[in-house]
Amino acid sequence: MNYLLNSFECTGACVPGLEYLHQVQKLALEPAMVDVMDNLRDRIPICTWIGENIDIVNTELNLYLQACHECFYPHERHEIQIFAAPLAQSLGIDGLCNIFTNPITILIDVGRIAPEDWLSIVVHEYAHAHVGEFGHNQRFARILWHLCLGLAIELPIWDPGRESELRSWPNCKSTVDPLALWRGDSILDFRF
Ligand SMILES: [Zn+2]
Repeated sequence: MNYLLNSFECTGACVPGLEYLHQVQKLALEPAMVDVMDNLRDRIPICTWIGENIDIVNTELNLYLQACHECFYPHERHEIQIFAAPLAQSLGIDGLCNIFTNPITILIDVGRIAPEDWLSIVVHEYAHAHVGEFGHNQRFARILWHLCLGLAIELPIWDPGRESELRSWPNCKSTVDPLALWRGDSILDFRF
């Protein structure tokens, strides 16, 4: 790894946080897709926050994954794992699905979207995982529609000429500062 923190800088909860980031990097399409290490000012608080809080965030994401699974019969479900991860800002994406891992991996940047929309972004990436494709074609649209119907989310427009609208469906509210949550600046209100 080309950007290991100085061991004197990264101590306490920062250490498991950094190890977590390295693990999810291996699950991304490219390791650089998961990255906060260029952020010299914030990387220590971010790794520390991850070390202290990532389990509860991933527990929440797994509830949403399970909700998606329940829209399908057990024999229709694919093996899917889900993790929260700060995605490289340059990508400008809220989540990604890596269909090449086994199980298929969904990564969600929970800092980029409001918590009430986390289910929506999981639904979008789950549709990619279920179809096994990156594109927003008719097969994707059919699965997305099925999930939205099952989870009482506004239904997507199913029109071959408007597939681009499916790229950002369901609509999610973006946060002002994508790193605020990862730094521990915002208070999370989980519905446990
Ligand atoms: Zn998509």
